[in-house]
Amino acid sequence: MTTIFGTASSREVIRTLEQAGYEAVFVGGAVRDYVLGKPATDMDIATSAEPDEVKAVFSTTFDVGIAHGTVLVLMHREPIEVTTYRTEGTYSDNRRPDEVQFVKSLREDLQRRDFTMNALAMTIDGELIDPFGGRNDLAQRVIRAVGNPEDRFKEDALRMFRAIRFTAVLDFMIEPQTFEAIRNHAGRLRHISVERLKAEMDKLLIGVNPKAAFTAMQQTGLGSHLPLFPHDIDGLGRTVPFESILEGWACFMISGDFSPAAVAKAYKLSNVEKKFLMEVHALYVKRKVQDYIVDDYYHYASDVFQTVEKLRDALDEASDTLTSTEIEQQQQALPIQSKEELVVTGKDLIAWSGLAGGRWTGTWMKEIEQAVLHGLCNNDPNDIKDWFSREYKREK
Ligand code: ATP
Ligand code: MG
Repeated sequence: MTTIFGTASSREVIRTLEQAGYEAVFVGGAVRDYVLGKPATDMDIATSAEPDEVKAVFSTTFDVGIAHGTVLVLMHREPIEVTTYRTEGTYSDNRRPDEVQFVKSLREDLQRRDFTMNALAMTIDGELIDPFGGRNDLAQRVIRAVGNPEDRFKEDALRMFRAIRFTAVLDFMIEPQTFEAIRNHAGRLRHISVERLKAEMDKLLIGVNPKAAFTAMQQTGLGSHLPLFPHDIDGLGRTVPFESILEGWACFMISGDFSPAAVAKAYKLSNVEKKFLMEVHALYVKRKVQDYIVDDYYHYASDVFQTVEKLRDALDEASDTLTSTEIEQQQQALPIQSKEELVVTGKDLIAWSGLAGGRWTGTWMKEIEQAVLHGLCNNDPNDIKDWFSREYKREK
């Protein structure tokens, strides 16, 4: 039986390397996901060719991580990462090897990888190379370190968090010795940069079972070495699974009783992420004291409402939560969705009043926006003109 694995471009990269006399195989998460019957994500290729040799074989390449042996090959416009077989030298800082060493054997390359399920390779002919029992562990749904877990976590503390991330993504158990080693070395997580933790946390949050991961973080003690962690994970457990990474962070914030600023700072969130947390926080707090009003439907996007409703359902056991359809109906029923939809501009106000332009036009446009939103006049040029003339005179 032949297995067709990989995209046409990635297969061509392998074939080209083989024709030039080198070994090349698929490695990493894509092979794991293929064995699991899941659609493949990014295709990583490992090769016996050294970076200079890879660059000599292809016409278009980019040095994306040459120090780690990675060259990006552009094949029919598709970017394909090709990494030279390597081991990692000594780790003196719990996170990055002091040097990487290129090696000639695939086995040595697979041996430096974190978990047995991630230490699989596949040839272009569909032959699975599995020196550490990865296929068996996948069948048993077990996350097991390659080699001695204590040593592997001492080398690179991020692996502990990756193990836990995979419990959420795959809904697998961590093998007992690997789990015990995480308990023993949890404190080493402090050597890991926030950026790397955030990247793993993002993947964890959209996994099928984030609750398992948060429970494991608590049981291993890893949680207390994270920049911020909701120690009472019961509430968080009730909000899973998450619709999106953003929703995951918002539930993390509310269930941990953290401020948006605290979460954003601790995990170096982007401005977009921070804004979402601030909006969810504001609307959630407001909804505790009053029903939603027209201004809320106008101001907040539907995904903010959806997250707030989910939190009310899970944390406050509210019985009057709205479905996403109900929220969208409320929003679509508004006379306008944004100020851009107003049919008049400041220029119209100048023409109607005969006055020179100035800051007053902006102020009045805001008044008009409110009037249209609240149904005091229609979003129609004549109606707005009448309303404006009346109100404007009254204020004079
Ligand atoms: P995903 O499907 O989420 O991308 P992945 O396993 O492919 O998961 P990557 O971060 O893309 O994760 O890493 C690709 C491969 O590199 C892994 O499958 C593993 O073999 C190896 N790897 C990644 N990080 C480490 C690490 N910290 N220590 C050892 N090997 C690692
Ligand atoms: Mg990957």
